[in-house]
Amino acid sequence: MSQASQMLFGSEEPQRAVPVLVPVPADRPYSYAVPVGMAVEPGSIVQVPLGPRQVAGVVWDGETEVINPAKLREITKLFDCPPLQPAMRRFVDWVAAYTLSPPGLVVRMALRAPAAFDPEPMMEGFRFAGVSPERITPARARALELAASMPHWTRSGLAHAAGISAAVVDGLIKHGSFEPVALPPHPAVPLPDTTYGRAELNAEQISVADSLRAATVNADYGVTLLEGVTGSGKTEVYFEAVAAALDAGRQVLILLPEIALTQAFIDRFHTRFGAPPAEWHSDMPPRMREKIWRQAAEGRVRVVAGARSALFLPFRELGLVIVDEEHDPAYKQEERTFYHARDMAVVRASLEKVPVILASATPSVESRVNASQGRYEHLRLQSRYEEAALPDLSLVDLRRHPPARGRFVSPVLLTAIEQTVARGEQALLFLNRRGYSPLTLCRACGYRFHCQQCSTWLVDHRLRGQLSCHHCGHTEKRPESCPECGTMDHLVACGPGVERIAEEMLERFPNSRTVLLSSDLPGGPKRMRRELEAIADGGADIVIGTQLVAKGHHFPLMTLVGAIDADLGLANGDPRAAERTFQLLHQVTGRAGRSGRASRGLIQTWQPEHPVMQAIASGDEERFYERELAERERAGMPPFGRLSAIIVSAATRREAEDYGRALRAAAPDDGGIDVLGPAEAPLAVLRGRHRFRLLCQGSRQESMQVFLRRLFAAAPRPRGSVQVQIDVDPQSF
Ligand code: ADP
Ligand code: ZN
Repeated sequence: MSQASQMLFGSEEPQRAVPVLVPVPADRPYSYAVPVGMAVEPGSIVQVPLGPRQVAGVVWDGETEVINPAKLREITKLFDCPPLQPAMRRFVDWVAAYTLSPPGLVVRMALRAPAAFDPEPMMEGFRFAGVSPERITPARARALELAASMPHWTRSGLAHAAGISAAVVDGLIKHGSFEPVALPPHPAVPLPDTTYGRAELNAEQISVADSLRAATVNADYGVTLLEGVTGSGKTEVYFEAVAAALDAGRQVLILLPEIALTQAFIDRFHTRFGAPPAEWHSDMPPRMREKIWRQAAEGRVRVVAGARSALFLPFRELGLVIVDEEHDPAYKQEERTFYHARDMAVVRASLEKVPVILASATPSVESRVNASQGRYEHLRLQSRYEEAALPDLSLVDLRRHPPARGRFVSPVLLTAIEQTVARGEQALLFLNRRGYSPLTLCRACGYRFHCQQCSTWLVDHRLRGQLSCHHCGHTEKRPESCPECGTMDHLVACGPGVERIAEEMLERFPNSRTVLLSSDLPGGPKRMRRELEAIADGGADIVIGTQLVAKGHHFPLMTLVGAIDADLGLANGDPRAAERTFQLLHQVTGRAGRSGRASRGLIQTWQPEHPVMQAIASGDEERFYERELAERERAGMPPFGRLSAIIVSAATRREAEDYGRALRAAAPDDGGIDVLGPAEAPLAVLRGRHRFRLLCQGSRQESMQVFLRRLFAAAPRPRGSVQVQIDVDPQSF
């Protein structure tokens, strides 16, 4: 018994108590008594009573403090499942401390597969016992012949394969020709074959792959930023590191920013390794998730490709972490625990003592700085694979080349589309806005349709016949008359969404095949995958899409990319607006010219003199990054300074603002961190709740976490409807 153990209930019944972290918003583990004879250790996954419920929790490290032994409840069950390893437990602690989130909520992310904690029941199977029955019928002969060809069968499996009834199989079992065996519930996972579809790398790729392989074999923590222009073969190259980790008997985690991209990635991995990776995202059916969770913990799946939540899988022998498209804003989770999956991937790798690769054509400013200051190794692929050239990019000044009234595509771009389609090639029109139009108003009285729950306009989704709020999901039927003045047929759409651009293309090029891609269209990921394949096979002339089409896809016939409203993301006063816009425009224009044909990108803008537009048009990324860094440094913005946001929300504006003021008053004022606000949050009302925001800004030398903990310790507890969210390192605001 360890020193941490406690003697309870007198001497004849010694009982131990241990800390158990349960998946609720608790800021520390609770104490539970260990039943006599139950062998738990730190990391054990157990079932414990919590109020009226039974929940799964994890036995945590450290001592437990039993205040009232009489009230101590017992662990009800020890699951037959691999314990959470020390590195994983430290990871949970680390994420909780960094994000100021209750550790209970963080451990919940690591326990997202409840039924996985029990072993999967074995299935009944049998195998040929080597003795033939006395009487042989044709059906029996077939069954015996087949049975001998494989190590084991299920009853229905053999009956089906032999085309006989299951009764024949039963008869053979009874005669002792077949003997029972217990089979694992899931067939063995096909393992990736590291030599299977290995690509012939070019000289530049070989040298980068060699470095990545060396880092992987070295099997120690280290971060590599893999920067390469779109189409340079980053994926092909990091697959070599994956192969090295697999050859060393380790598991690999590959993070992808979007579920929509997962399928294409899995197909590609399959082509390279002869077997698919396991897939992981929160939309998967629970049974699938349970299977992957358990198999990751047992070391049976070797590679998992998934969304940010895959970061919390309990790998048994992790050897490599890859974050693809590391700059992508989708890596930031902005609910419950606010965390950035790229940053946490680096933390997990350091705790597991394994290498991590961050891949991107347009790395985040943060990663660029880390690389230039020597914290990350920086590897580059400078040219596109084979003869493919980057597209020729130019700006279309909308002030000089305005589209026709009520239209959004300028004459310059229209001509380019026409010529492209005439050559049998494809054009991609990019607009980062779903729906038909972002605002509908009544021409008679000026009424604007807005969300009743949020401070936003309703977006017209004409294909669905709905107006909808992009913040709370509220939808209503698209009306024909104005709810304010009752006038019919005076509603006008202001501004374009992708549906409206698709309409313009259909009008203008009625004989061309137009495809609209947007995440909200019916048919879900399956249809999306079909459409993407069809585009790659030349089954479309003009593709119109949101940022979904900007990422990762390989469309051989695409030779023109038009950005409809390149300035869209620049207006909102967000400190990362320039970086985001630059990355998005770079990514989307990178869809053109990937198979060697000459290609163009036309960027429609109202501010051609803006540094982002200049950087894109000139292809001078270095200048853009330098300028952006200087700007951030001057303003004390990340990565040069630290930032965190506190969002206070409440049922009334008054309550939210008052509590925001109370927090401000509680802020320590002895250090290098300034508090700005409370000010109305950019989305001042969300789901009926009023929101105020405080921004804390300080130098890198200050610990934001220490500051925030002191602030909250000094502040009154939130009362009534008041809720507080903490966003350390906010990505946008
Ligand atoms: P990136 O991830 O940098 O955009 P990819 O890895 O997707 O680039 O490569 C772009 C395209 O070029 C893909 O179709 C890929 O299969 C192909 N490619 C890249 N390198 C090679 C290679 N060495 N051999 C064969 N095909 C390659
Ligand atoms: Zn809303």
